[in-house]
Amino acid sequence: MGELKFISTYSKTAQIIKSHGFQVKKSYGQNFLIDQHVVNKIIAGSGVCADDFVIEIGPGIGGLTERLAPLSKHITAVEIDKNLIPILEDNFAGYKNVDILNQDILKTDIEDIIASRGFDSAKIVANLPYYITTPIIMSILEGNAPVKSMTVMIQKEVGQRIKAAAGSKDYGALTLGVTYRAKAEFIANVPRNSFIPRPNVDSVVIRLDVLEKPPVKVDCEKLMFMIIKAAFEQRRKTLINCLFNLLDLGLSKEELAALLEKCGLNPNVRGENLTLEDFARLTNAISIRACRNR
Ligand code: SAM
Repeated sequence: MGELKFISTYSKTAQIIKSHGFQVKKSYGQNFLIDQHVVNKIIAGSGVCADDFVIEIGPGIGGLTERLAPLSKHITAVEIDKNLIPILEDNFAGYKNVDILNQDILKTDIEDIIASRGFDSAKIVANLPYYITTPIIMSILEGNAPVKSMTVMIQKEVGQRIKAAAGSKDYGALTLGVTYRAKAEFIANVPRNSFIPRPNVDSVVIRLDVLEKPPVKVDCEKLMFMIIKAAFEQRRKTLINCLFNLLDLGLSKEELAALLEKCGLNPNVRGENLTLEDFARLTNAISIRACRNR
């Protein structure tokens, strides 16, 4: 098979864009992959195989889609840009196992997509739009959809945040969300000249394998994610101030200080110094106390 056959090459991508008169939109984070070596790494790293149902986020003109389609049982590709839909429909007209949805992934019910196509789980594969990488990953980690893994191209700096150690500047809600739900595997470094248009950042590909069971026991996951997000919203403030200012827990600062001490934490601690285990212990203590106060 010659390289030019594939969409994710410079000449084929340029030809598709030109023949459809398509205007690339920076506002949608459109950077199309033009390197088959990178595509090979994403495909191999995703571990997608014949029985798998794949959800692709942001297919663009279909460079990854065309390589995933022959390997998987079915692909649903969710693309926000209506101007890309005729291009995708054109490129995948002969494919029975590809369907294209013109939707915002952040407003899409992934659980419903999986069930409505007759599957009980999905693997997600995406070259993510950089402007919403974290919200997309967090919404999937926080949701209940039966996702087995997410193989995603992300900005290199976001990759560093995922792997960050407690106390470091990169440590935050994303680090904790990923640690709670998944095991992160590094797949590849991707230089910025692998795309057109060329972005201002380098990228990495990672795979998040969703854990069968989280590493800590939490009575109310939703509350833990709320506490974690509040803790990093104003990361230079103490945890007590963040929780008091941003969440309506029905607890005074004195009550919050007592709960932190009960959990073995200094009342002046900042969120960035807490591990996932600390957040889980604190969440369980807060949920018992907040319920009692209501
Ligand atoms: N998969 C293609 C590739 O690798 O060449 C395109 C990747 S490009 C980095 C990101 C894609 O995500 C674009 O096609 C963009 O229009 C789409 N996109 C941006 N925001 C989106 C959203 N909220 N929901 C679904 N797709 C989105």
